[in-house]
Amino acid sequence: MLVIGLDGYPCSLLSDQIARAALPRLSNLLRESLPVRMESVYPTVSGVAWATYMTGRNPGNHRIFGFIDRKYKPFQLVIPDSRHIGCRTLWTLLGESGHPIIVVNVPLTYPPRQVNGILVGGFLCPDIARVAYPPAITESLKRSGYIIDAETGYGVSGQWNSFLDHLETTLERRIAAFIGLIDHHEWSFAQLHIMETDRLFHYLWKAVERDFDPGITGRVDQFFKLLDGLLDTLISRLDSGDELILLSDHGFCRATHAVQLNRLLQETGFLDARDSQPVGHDEPPGGYAYSLMPGRIFMNLKNREPWGRTEPDRRDEILNRITSLLSSIKIPGTDRCAFKRICRSAELYRGNYLSEAADLIVVPERGVELRASYAAGAVFETSKLQGIHTFDDAFVWIKNRRVIHDRPNIIDLYPSILEIFAMSDPEAEGSSLFH
Ligand SMILES: [Zn+2]
Repeated sequence: MLVIGLDGYPCSLLSDQIARAALPRLSNLLRESLPVRMESVYPTVSGVAWATYMTGRNPGNHRIFGFIDRKYKPFQLVIPDSRHIGCRTLWTLLGESGHPIIVVNVPLTYPPRQVNGILVGGFLCPDIARVAYPPAITESLKRSGYIIDAETGYGVSGQWNSFLDHLETTLERRIAAFIGLIDHHEWSFAQLHIMETDRLFHYLWKAVERDFDPGITGRVDQFFKLLDGLLDTLISRLDSGDELILLSDHGFCRATHAVQLNRLLQETGFLDARDSQPVGHDEPPGGYAYSLMPGRIFMNLKNREPWGRTEPDRRDEILNRITSLLSSIKIPGTDRCAFKRICRSAELYRGNYLSEAADLIVVPERGVELRASYAAGAVFETSKLQGIHTFDDAFVWIKNRRVIHDRPNIIDLYPSILEIFAMSDPEAEGSSLFH
C-alpha cells in the first residue's frame, strides 16, 4: 500500500483542478472515483491531524494538542514531537505484524522511533544527521540533497520566484529520495508526506485562487504541473493490484483577519496586562487565563499551576465569562462573531490525557487566524498569511474502493488502513470508511 499525504490540500481545490484538467495526469486517475471531502481535527493544525491519523485516536488519547504546548511544573513552552505521542502508531502496529514500512516526512515522526523498516522524520528535525531510522539511511539522503523542510523566509519577504523555485527543488528531491527508498528496500506499507503544498497555500493562496500577480499565478500553475508529473512518476511504479490512498489533513481558505487572543484577555482583565513576555519565555503568564496558538485558553488554577491563584471552584464561572466575552467579539465591519465555536476540552476530547488539554478551545470563523502574542498592539490585525487552514475541506481518495462513510474524518483512516491489511485495533476510535 502506498499512502501520499498532501498537506493542507483542499478537496474543493482538487475537485476544481480535476474538472478543468489542471493536473492532467492525476485527473485521469482521480476521475475514476472522485476525492471525498473529509473533516479534520480541533485545533486544525497538521501535527494534531497527523497524530490523529497515525494513532486512530483523539488528542485526549494521543496527547498532541497543538504545535506548541506548556509544561507547568515548572512552566515551560515546548514543541511536541514524536516522543510526546501517548499511544502506539500505525507504523508500529503494521511493523509488529510483519509488514515492513517506509514512512517519509510525516509531521510528528521526529525524532524517528525504531520501526520495522525505514522512517524519515518530518519538519521538526533540525539536523539531517538525526532525521532517519535506521541512521545509515542518512548518507543517501545527504547525497541526494534531501531538504527536510522548505525555508519559508522567501514567502515571508514576498520573494515569490525564489520561494517557488525553492519549493519545487524541495519537492523534487523529496519525491526522488522516496522513490530511491521504495525501489531499494522491502516494504508492504509506504507513506510519503508532501509539506510543500501547505507552505505554498500559506504564502500564495491568492495566486492559487487566481487573484494575484499574473506572472506569479502562472508560476503557481507550473508548481501544480510539476507536482502532477512527479506524483505520476511515483504512482506509475505501483503494480496494478497495489493499494493507493491520497489524502490531506485539512483544507485552506483566504486569510482575512488575525485575532490576538492574549491582547483580548489583557484588555478585559483576564490576563495580567503587565505580562509582556514574548512566546518562548519560560515565565508563567499572570492573571486568570492566557492563550497558546491556535485558539487554546488555559486557566491559572491554584493547585494545578504552581503559580495559579484562582481557586478551582471558580473555574466554571471564569470560563463562562470568557466564553461570553468571546461570543460578543465581532469581525470588524460585520455582525458575525469571529469564532464559530468556543468549547470546553471535554466537549471535543476524551481519554487518558484529557487533563493536559486547554480549558477552552476556540474554533475560529472561516478566514480568521488565531494568534497569541503578549505584545500585540490590537486585538484584530491583518493576517500576514494569504491562506489559513479549514476544518471541513480535507480530502481522501482510495483507489478501487468506495468511501461510503457519511461523514469521513481523518481519524477514520487508521481503522480503514488496518482493515485493508486484514487487521484491527479494538481501541481505534474512528470507523471504517468502507461501511
Ligand atoms: Zn499550515
